[in-house]
Amino acid sequence: MTQATTLQNQVTSTFKSLKCKECGEEYELKAAHVCEFCFGPLEVTYDYSTLSQTVTRESIQAGPHSIWRYRSFLPVATDTPIDVGTGMTPLLQAHRLARRLGIEQLYIKNDAVNMPTLSFKDRVVSVALTRARELGFSKVSCASTGNLANSTAAIAARAGLDCCVFIPADLEAGKVMGTLIYGPTVMAVQGNYDQVNRLCSEVANTHGWGFVNINLRPYYSEGSKTLAYEVAEQLGWQLPDHVVVPLASGSLFTKIYKGFQEFAQVGLVDEKPVRFSGAQADGCSPIAQAYRENRDFITPVKPNTIAKSIAIGNPADGVYATEIARKTNGTIESVSDAEIIEGIKLLAETEGIFTETAGGTTIAVLKKLVEAGNIARDERTVVYITGNGLKTQEAVQGYIGEPLTIEPKLDSFERALERSQVLERLEWQPVLV
Ligand SMILES: *Cc1c(COP(=O)(O)O)cnc(C)c1O
Ligand SMILES: [Zn+2]
Repeated sequence: MTQATTLQNQVTSTFKSLKCKECGEEYELKAAHVCEFCFGPLEVTYDYSTLSQTVTRESIQAGPHSIWRYRSFLPVATDTPIDVGTGMTPLLQAHRLARRLGIEQLYIKNDAVNMPTLSFKDRVVSVALTRARELGFSKVSCASTGNLANSTAAIAARAGLDCCVFIPADLEAGKVMGTLIYGPTVMAVQGNYDQVNRLCSEVANTHGWGFVNINLRPYYSEGSKTLAYEVAEQLGWQLPDHVVVPLASGSLFTKIYKGFQEFAQVGLVDEKPVRFSGAQADGCSPIAQAYRENRDFITPVKPNTIAKSIAIGNPADGVYATEIARKTNGTIESVSDAEIIEGIKLLAETEGIFTETAGGTTIAVLKKLVEAGNIARDERTVVYITGNGLKTQEAVQGYIGEPLTIEPKLDSFERALERSQVLERLEWQPVLV
């Protein structure tokens, strides 16, 4: 019994190599992200036959209550990864939002409450920094639109790694404070994210630091697969019919796809087509534009939207995202800043979840897809909410009403209550024609 348990809990490392997504050239498992021959992106490969023999639903469920229960599918060798409780966020059936939109089977995967910094980036950074430590880096860094800086700084602090992060200088106050508090060096670059990213590629070459989303990108991006694994496990080891996912670089989108495929390949779930739909903001929608125009290349744009966390004008995985949307019979849509604010409010008022601008974008796109008849009434749909609204408060400032200020007296309260009920009746008055 003891021996069986030990065996069951023993996790095998099955990651094999880095492989070019374009030409197939393979590389050893070092800190590298582009192919030396064709400049294609490198991706981690695994030994799936070993995985299908060693991993079971039970062995996963016997693991920790975090992303590390899926460790055999992640590119780290250590038995003691950096586990800050990341992952296993709630999957909620969204009855009220579904009814409001006119569909039946809607679920919210709520990474607005992911640990430790309240966005899905904690998943990718937990994996990247665990791998950075294995590869011998003592200084870690990132080029960030905000959430990644929060995660990198927090998890580096916890792991005792030196940290320097790069952000665009015009980020939301909550994102800046949510980085500074952990004590890293913060470089606020006077430029947009794409300029930050270019600068960071040079620093990675000249200083040899471990940039989670540059030279460690193949490891980092694998962390996003856990958002597929968890949804499959939380749906009772089944795949959904349709997912709606926000797109910045497009990496998350492609990795959720890879995650579902892997689970089917090793027999943890039954194979089944899943439709993949992506969400962008009009003010930065290079992937949606390429999709709309049926192009197989991305034309970079200059971002101008309140959805800063997903404002990447030159998205590295954009082409792969359009391919997945096409072949799964999904779509990629974009919405205006006004619709994003409405999306944030709609999710809060129907489901009690306060998401940031990226989540508002995703909800607004969901609404648009339902209205266009792109999501069937009975399709089991999962919407990925990737970040927390307390970090982007300025986005909704002025759109959410104000508290009723009263004197500490009963009659003052009664008068205010009366006024609020009048206001409510006015707001809900049916339009007469
Ligand atoms: C980074 C981020 C995304 C998407 O990231 P990809 O670059 O497409 O992997 C989505 N939502 C939030 C809140 C993010 O911070
Ligand atoms: Zn190549």
